[in-house]
Amino acid sequence: MHDDEFTQMPPAGGRKASLDRFQFCARRQLLQHAVPEAADGLGDTFRDLVDAHQVLGRSSRDSGLVLSINAHLWGAVFPLLNYGTEEQRQTWLGDLLSGELLGGHAITEPQAGSDLDALAVSARKTEDGFVLGGRKRYITNTPIADLLVVYARLEDKLSAFIVCRDDEGVQFCAAPTVKGCRSATMGDVILDNCRIPSSRQLGKTGSGKMMIQHALELERAFIFAGIAGIMDWQLQTVIRHSRERKVNGRHLGANQAISHRIADMQLRLETLRLWVGHCATLKDNRQRLTLASAQTKLYGGEAFLQSSLDAVHILGSSGIEEGSDLAVLVDDAIASRLFSGSSEMQKNIIAALLGTGEGFKG
Ligand SMILES: Cc1cc2nc3c(=O)[nH]c(=O)nc-3n(C[C@H](O)[C@H](O)[C@H](O)COP(=O)(O)OP(=O)(O)OC[C@H]3O[C@@H](n4cnc5c(N)ncnc54)[C@H](O)[C@@H]3O)c2cc1C
Repeated sequence: MHDDEFTQMPPAGGRKASLDRFQFCARRQLLQHAVPEAADGLGDTFRDLVDAHQVLGRSSRDSGLVLSINAHLWGAVFPLLNYGTEEQRQTWLGDLLSGELLGGHAITEPQAGSDLDALAVSARKTEDGFVLGGRKRYITNTPIADLLVVYARLEDKLSAFIVCRDDEGVQFCAAPTVKGCRSATMGDVILDNCRIPSSRQLGKTGSGKMMIQHALELERAFIFAGIAGIMDWQLQTVIRHSRERKVNGRHLGANQAISHRIADMQLRLETLRLWVGHCATLKDNRQRLTLASAQTKLYGGEAFLQSSLDAVHILGSSGIEEGSDLAVLVDDAIASRLFSGSSEMQKNIIAALLGTGEGFKG
């Protein structure tokens, strides 16, 4: 995949544009990487996925689009691939891979984000299906999604369900939203006696927590591939400015305080690429990803924020001009430290895997 594949991307702005841009990427088969051919995918590797997402980020410079695509892939496509019944895969997977349908995952609730044990949306078994009740919040893609994988407590056990936009008793709302990654649509999912058929349970009763952890593990590992692409563009923009801008008769970058910031940005970008590439290698070799993906997410969020702050600072006031693409990245980076689990939660995972920290009963 090359940068020029994205030159005809529809312009950003508004809900319709978010969908158009998603579908534009889908037509370039961006949703089909690392999915077996037998399941209508390209049958290529996670390395190929990472390369393609870096191109997407570099050419679109759109963190919201990267977020939207990643929520679709790790929140809906891969859970269906990994846990779906033959019937569920037949019904949904082909259309999700072609971009005909758009998905996401609904985990967070108004009272519970980091703390999965506090999730309260309920599911009740009926004669012919389930009734879901409660509210999800900050769910990427909700206003334009066709379906969401919703996590709810069935017999008090966290479980997963496929909920569609036109199901009885559900509202896919367009608010509240957050400041970062604005081109990704977001909102609440209100479940008010939402009735779904029994064929919509995804995975086993009680396997919801494991499914969430698996989905987020993949999201943490690979969402920063697209963001690395954006950081590449950010770095090139700053280098160009440092050469063109004259201060005291010299180019701006001739000041070591500036050039060292740029060197740090380069190192962060290359380190992030190594982390994302390492995750791809682990997945391609069918090895465990938990530690590497937590480290990638932690490093990626912090690196993106620091480099975004450095970039606007080096550009001076023009960096924070109203409408500046670089300024927008600061908000995106703040959001990136929260989505898919906050930086602190990644530290908790890393510490726990090292046999210490919050969960260790020493
Ligand atoms: C752009 C964006 C997109 C999102 N998309 C989705 C989506 O598609 N689906 C979805 O389900 N959710 C989504 N979210 C929600 C996101 O997953 C949560 O915001 C995140 O998990 C944090 O939860 P919270 O906001 O409730 O914060 P809280 O859990 O209330 O945490 C508040 C602060 O306390 C810290 N904290 C919490 N617990 C601990 C602890 N044990 N130790 C140390 N510090 C702690 C956190 O790190 C954070 O800084 C999205 C969020 C954003 C910003």
